[in-house]
Amino acid sequence: MPDIIQLLPDNIANQIAAGEVIQRPASAVKELLENAVDAGATQIKLVVNDAGKALVQVIDNGKGMSETDARMSFERHATSKIRNIEDLFHIKTMGFRGEALASIAAVAQVELRSKKESETTGTYIEIDNSVVKKQEAIAMETGTSIAMKNLFFNVPARRNFLKSNPSELRHIVDEFIRVAMSFPDIFFSLTSNGQQVFHLERGTLKQRIVQILGNNYSSKLVNVQEQTDYMNIYGFVGKPETAKKTRGDQYFFVNNRFIKSAYLNHAVMGAFDSMIAKDSFPMYTLFIDLDPAQLDINVHPTKQEIKFEDEKIVYAFVQSAVKHALAQFSISPTLDFELDSTIQQLDAVSKPFTEERKSSVASSSLYNTFSQKNQAHFIENKSELKHWRDFYEPLPKEQSPQTSDPLPAPNQSTPVSNHSPLYSEMCRQVQEETPLQQMHCTYILAQNDAGFIVIHQQNAHERILYERFIKALDGKPIAIQQSLFPQTMELAAGDVVVLKELLPDLHYLGYHLEPFGNNTFVIQGTPADVDQGNEKTAIEKMLEQYKHFSSDLKYSKREKLLRSLAWQQAIKAGRALSQKEMRSLVQDLFTCSLPNITPNGKPTYTAFKKYELDRMFGR
Ligand code: ADP
Ligand code: MG
Repeated sequence: MPDIIQLLPDNIANQIAAGEVIQRPASAVKELLENAVDAGATQIKLVVNDAGKALVQVIDNGKGMSETDARMSFERHATSKIRNIEDLFHIKTMGFRGEALASIAAVAQVELRSKKESETTGTYIEIDNSVVKKQEAIAMETGTSIAMKNLFFNVPARRNFLKSNPSELRHIVDEFIRVAMSFPDIFFSLTSNGQQVFHLERGTLKQRIVQILGNNYSSKLVNVQEQTDYMNIYGFVGKPETAKKTRGDQYFFVNNRFIKSAYLNHAVMGAFDSMIAKDSFPMYTLFIDLDPAQLDINVHPTKQEIKFEDEKIVYAFVQSAVKHALAQFSISPTLDFELDSTIQQLDAVSKPFTEERKSSVASSSLYNTFSQKNQAHFIENKSELKHWRDFYEPLPKEQSPQTSDPLPAPNQSTPVSNHSPLYSEMCRQVQEETPLQQMHCTYILAQNDAGFIVIHQQNAHERILYERFIKALDGKPIAIQQSLFPQTMELAAGDVVVLKELLPDLHYLGYHLEPFGNNTFVIQGTPADVDQGNEKTAIEKMLEQYKHFSSDLKYSKREKLLRSLAWQQAIKAGRALSQKEMRSLVQDLFTCSLPNITPNGKPTYTAFKKYELDRMFGR
C-alpha cells in the first residue's frame, strides 16, 4: 500500500481556514472596517454592491502600507499587531490574528491600493484565489482601499449558501453599525448599489447614536457614566418611555469591541425593571472599559461571548451604573443638543434601519480583543479614580447573580450600594427652615435651593418601606411589638399554605405569627407602626396583594412579599400628615438608594426648577 497522506496546497488550506473567518459578505465588512480603524483612519467609506456578493470595498485615509507590507498582508498569519504570545494579553487593536486578508484573498478576487504618507507612490495589487495576478505602482492619496469582488466565486457551494440580498445587507448594516457606533470620532459612510445609506459625520457618541438609531432618541437619552479603578462604564440608555416591543437597539462594547452578552443584558434589564412594561426592550449603547487582563482572551474566531475574570462584579457594576443614571434623569433632565440639519435630512437619519435590523438579532459578531482608544484613557485617569470597592458592595446573598447561571434570578430593585451625591444633595437642599406643605392630603411640597419638589406621600412611603424591608431581610430585623391580647385569624386552606411559607421572612419583617392548627394562626406581634387592632386586616390585605403577584414568575417569593408589604403598609393618599411626619417622610425618602420611583416604577416625586418656572412666566 502506498502512503496516503499529502499536504494540502496553500490555496486550499487558505480556503478552508477562510471558512471560519469569512462566512458571508458581512464578515469581510467587519474585518476590513476593523483594519481601517486599526490603521488610524479618520474617514472610512464602505461601498457594497449586490449586498456585498459582487463587491465589498473599504476606503480609508489611514496610515497605509509600504509595497512590501502590502504584499505581505495577504499571507496567512501576517500581522503587524502581535509579535509573541505575551502580546495577546495586552492587545489593543481590533484585529490581530493576521488571517483576515489571507482569508478574503482565498475566497474572492481582491484589489488592494495603499500608500504611506512618507512615500510618493502607492501600490496596487490584484489577487485571485490567493494568487497574485498583478502588482504595480500607482498614484493615490495616503490610505488604503481594499475591494473584495465576487465573494466565493471559487467556492460555489458556499456562494449558494448565501442568503437573499436583503438578508445579507442586513448583516452588513449590523456590522457597519457596530463599528461606527464605537468610533464616533471617525467619519463613516455606507453606500449600497450607488445609494448612500449612512453618512455619519464625526461627532459625540450621543450624536452618533441619534444619527444611527433615529432622531426620536435625541432628547430621550440618559447618560451613564461611572469610573472606578477597576472598570469604567459610559454610554447612554433610552428613557423608559422609548422602550420598544422588540429587541434591537441594544449594544454592548467591551474595550470598544461589540459583544453579545445575555448576562450583561440581564443586568441592564434588571436596572430598568418596573420602569418599563415587562415585554419591552430599552435602548442601550454602553461601553465598558477594563484592563484586558481581567478578560479571558479567547482567540478562536467562532467564540460568541466574552468571559470576564469576575462576572459578578461586572454585572453589579453595570446594573448599579444604569440604575444611578435612571434615578438621576428625572432630577436633572438631559439637555437636548442641536443636530446638524444636513445630517438630519439624510435618509439614514430619517429612516433608520432599525425596523429591518430587529429581525436580525440572530446574527452575531465576534470581537475577541480590545481596542486602544479607550484603553488609553482608562490607564491615564487611574490615579483620580475611586476604588471600585467604594462603588460595588456585594448584593444581598440571595440576590447575587450566580456565575454558573447565565441568567441569574432577577434582583430587580436591589438598591445600589452608595448614594448618588445628587440624592443627598436633594435632601440637604430641602430647606429645613421652610415648612412643608401638604396638599389634598396627598402631596407634599418641599422647597429646595433649585426650586421645589412635589412628593406623592403614598408612593414615597412605599419606596421607603421597601428599602427598609430589604435591610430587614439582610439582617436588621424590624422590631416586633408583642400583642397584649394575641388575636387569632382563620384562613382559607390555600392561604394557609402561602402564609406558612412566608412565616420565617415575616418574622424578620416584624410579624410574629404562629400556626395554631386547623387553618388558624395566632398573631403574637406586629411591627410597631401597624395600628393595634388592625393587625388582622393588615395581614389579610398583604396576603391578597401577595397572591395578586403570584402569577408573576419573574419575582422571587421574597420579592413579592416585600412589595406586597410595602404596598400594604404605606400611608395612603388622602391622609393628613403632621409637619413632623412629613419631615421624616422626606428625609427617609432621600436617604433611599433609589428615591425617585416606587418598587413598581411609579414616580415618587417631581422636581420643579426655579429657572423653568421663571421661563414659564416669561422671566
Ligand atoms: P490583522 O488585522 O489581524 O493583523 P489582517 O489580515 O486583517 O490581520 O491584516 C494584516 C495586516 O495588514 C495588518 O496587521 C496591517 O498591518 C495590514 N493592514 C490591513 N489592512 C490595512 C489598512 N486598511 N491600512 C493599513 N494597514 C492594513
Ligand atoms: Mg484585521
